Amino acid sequence: MLRTKEQYIEALGKMKRNVYFNGEKIDRSDEVQMPTIDVMATTYDKAQDPDPKIQELMLAKSHLTGETINRFTHIHMSADDLHKKQDMTRYLCREVGGCIQRCMGIDATNAIYNVSYEADKQNNGSTQYHENFKKWLERFQREDLVGCCAQTDVKGDRLKRPHEQVDPDLYVRVKETKSDGIVVSGCKLHISEASVADEILVVPTRSLRPEDKDYAVAFAVPGDWDGVKQVVTVHNYRKREHFPRGFMPGATDSYVIFDDCFVPWDRVFLNGEYVHGGVLALLFALFHRHSYSGCKPAIGDVLLGSAALAAEMNNIHKMGHVREKLAEIILTTELGYAAGYTASDQGKAEVYMPGMGFVPYGPGSFIPNSIYANVGRCLTGEAVYREQEILCDISGGVPATFPYEEDWVNPETKDLLEKYVMRNPKISAKNAANFWRFMGDILCSATGGITNMGNYHGGGSPVMEQIAITTQYDIEDRKDLVRRLAGITKD
Ligand SMILES: Cc1cc2nc3c(=O)[nH]c(=O)nc-3n(C[C@H](O)[C@H](O)[C@H](O)COP(=O)(O)OP(=O)(O)OC[C@H]3O[C@@H](n4cnc5c(N)ncnc54)[C@H](O)[C@@H]3O)c2cc1C
Repeated sequence: MLRTKEQYIEALGKMKRNVYFNGEKIDRSDEVQMPTIDVMATTYDKAQDPDPKIQELMLAKSHLTGETINRFTHIHMSADDLHKKQDMTRYLCREVGGCIQRCMGIDATNAIYNVSYEADKQNNGSTQYHENFKKWLERFQREDLVGCCAQTDVKGDRLKRPHEQVDPDLYVRVKETKSDGIVVSGCKLHISEASVADEILVVPTRSLRPEDKDYAVAFAVPGDWDGVKQVVTVHNYRKREHFPRGFMPGATDSYVIFDDCFVPWDRVFLNGEYVHGGVLALLFALFHRHSYSGCKPAIGDVLLGSAALAAEMNNIHKMGHVREKLAEIILTTELGYAAGYTASDQGKAEVYMPGMGFVPYGPGSFIPNSIYANVGRCLTGEAVYREQEILCDISGGVPATFPYEEDWVNPETKDLLEKYVMRNPKISAKNAANFWRFMGDILCSATGGITNMGNYHGGGSPVMEQIAITTQYDIEDRKDLVRRLAGITKD
């Protein structure tokens, strides 16, 4: 069943209060969360759009039940599914002018779907992770739920492995195993949209060794489950009373704390299989970096439009240096998209294993090509602050010192401000003023700054993509190539 925006919000309203914000417990449908909920709700509204082109992107056929489902709950069964996920992401991110927030769920479900299958296979049928996951997934699809992904642990001392930390809870771990399930303890942080999600999917954050097996745990629990506390930070732009934006987005990130939290077996998808735990960490990151090949190009679209309009506002749009800077944004945006497109096109039911190359993996669903997903994500991630620099340069200082809204309606200052906002005579004072407010949101607000950090670190910092690329790329082949061309032999 496809859920409506209203049904989604109603369900959030019924969840138990375990979200803490600025010293208080809040309802999930608290006013402060509404801009975030409006973004998430776009994924429900657009799934009901009668336009066949949008339906093509937003809807999929469940391989479990044959029912029509929201693509955000789908397992990719073909390269075409991967293409559509990428294009759906770019389309929706353009609609809301930023992160669409629901991709962590689709990326985590696709990763767990594959790894739970492989873990069961290796355990020779002594575990039922995959069957349990499929049952969980069927409900997730039927009820059209929102999932978030809790991967990043607090990690304590970065140079120590999970089992070496002074406090064992610095990575989420299994504290106790019972006949009916496990008790978990620890904290995942930066968990985007956990405060507006129905389900939290938990996966390991890094590769693990035998001593770390208590940390090789994957499971899903409702966002308001007993033993779960969320401390949320909310990223909203400055409120507008008189001059609204076309769309007002918001975002949230939670510290998700598991305080001796009991998880029944049917919600546990990995428990102690440390090798598979490491693969799951990498596979979620891979699917998520592929999602970035949809969202970062959309953000590139917004930044390009912003830079081009800022140039017009300042009447410098025909200048050579502006053209160069616009070209730079287009270049990063479309190379990021092209890398994702190729990652989709070369998607297979295979993963790259160092030393073995591509090997069949999982029950047959499609996994994007790792090299292309990683190079695209690395390129666009590293460009985040350069793109901000371009916007800052072309805008000049106006977004930083722009007067507050009330001064634009106060009869004592209104006419003066409208006179002095004028630059390009072809652009009205009203449009110029609202444009600079928008640029202030992007360039100078706390939320703009947080967005940049997410765009840089989300899915793993660029160094993580560099590690993935260099460990998976056949550098030896290139050395052999040059030896042949240079006429040298291997010593
Ligand atoms: C806005 C935002 C939203 C996010 N949303 C989510 C989400 O929904 N779900 C989720 O799971 N995560 C999320 N993340 C987390 C994101 O994936 C991480 O921030 C990223 O993986 C980096 O991890 P970290 O923040 O712990 O930084 P660190 O790993 O601490 O990195 C800090 C620096 O230390 C270096 N470093 C770390 N370890 C080592 C080492 N052993 N040796 C050498 N150098 C090292 C890194 O390279 C980096 O330069 C989000 C992050 C942000 C900012």
